[in-house]
Amino acid sequence: MASSKLRAGVLGATGMVGQNYIRLLRDHPWFEVTYVAASPSSAGKKYADAVAGRWQMEEDIPASVAGLIVGDASDVATAKGKCDFVFSAVELDKDAIKQVENAYAAADIPVVSNNSAHRATADVPMLIPEINASHIDIIPVQRKNHGWKKGFVAVKPNCSLQSYLTPVHALREAGFEVQRMILATMQASSGAGYPGVPSLDLVDNIIPYIGGEEEKSEIEPLKILGRIENGVFVKDESIKIAAHCNRVRVVDGHTACVSLEFGAKKPSLEEIKRIWLAFRAEPQRLNLPFAPEHPILYREEANRPQPRKDRDAEKGMAVTIGRLRACPVFDVRFVGLSHNTVRGAAGGGILNAELLKAKGYLD
Ligand code: NAP
Repeated sequence: MASSKLRAGVLGATGMVGQNYIRLLRDHPWFEVTYVAASPSSAGKKYADAVAGRWQMEEDIPASVAGLIVGDASDVATAKGKCDFVFSAVELDKDAIKQVENAYAAADIPVVSNNSAHRATADVPMLIPEINASHIDIIPVQRKNHGWKKGFVAVKPNCSLQSYLTPVHALREAGFEVQRMILATMQASSGAGYPGVPSLDLVDNIIPYIGGEEEKSEIEPLKILGRIENGVFVKDESIKIAAHCNRVRVVDGHTACVSLEFGAKKPSLEEIKRIWLAFRAEPQRLNLPFAPEHPILYREEANRPQPRKDRDAEKGMAVTIGRLRACPVFDVRFVGLSHNTVRGAAGGGILNAELLKAKGYLD
């Protein structure tokens, strides 16, 4: 009997994010992986052979994917007819990624992307569905701009934002303006892909620089927290952000230490916790399969959150917060943590696709 699931392709399927897509999409109720693609050096091989010796997941490769022949991600013609939409997680230069993703959209294959190339593109939504699900309303404009019928590009933001932006959004939504935010991240090694940062650089060490990451942390929230007006995104520039991004020797899980300054109206610490614990949004209302029941978790223990103990909360899709306390310079400070290759990458991409399907954009 033919499956009623949508057929998903994964571009960059052999990489760190791609492998997580393959792992997380096993038994997905709405999507099944029917196409995989990577660089020309993997193209033509069976998926299991292409990832031999570098499969990083704890579970084995799903049998339904192991035998798929890997396509060349840049060759849209190979994907045509094999999938209804694609997840995109390729490591290429930005112009090349834009070209490839646009080519898929033009070929009626919607693109749900993890890449940064299109994040600043004026008619491309950059989604964290708990914050800005309504930004998908730009898609008809994007299709019109390009003359695309069925295709489109939607992206997710940088992985580290997930560790603090939803909690900040929850406070803003509850009526507390956040004027300034200073954050320092401690980002996991898997965020650099595979093989990533050489172990001799990372073990017994902290690297206080991740190329482009601080800029992304300061710029991307303004679009995510912004709104659509007359068919274009208007950034919310009312919030000023300063970011310090560090690479640490943790495998998975990005941590952020955050200080916030509110406007005239300041919530108490108890009020903040109540807002976070009660926070629910569109993915929860729509009951999307990958939506965490509690998008924001709060740990009372003085020494949490910790990557090893908290990154898998709600199947890696929740943000775990702890150490909320007064800040003697700004108003409050806290520590946030999220799973970078799940919530911050493949799981976040799957949630985006679920939102898009629920709203009729993948039909
Ligand atoms: P990765 O482990 O280095 O994997 C890169 C993937 O891109 C592989 O499948 C590789 O295929 C493919 N590729 C390389 N050159 C290519 C080419 N010329 N044409 C087509 N495909 C090519 O990187 P990653 O960490 O998975 O990241 C992938 C993307 O997701 C990047 O844009 C990254 O910024 C973004 N991202 C990563 C994370 C994270 O936590 N890691 C989070 C959010 C976003 P081969 O195996 O054949 O070389």
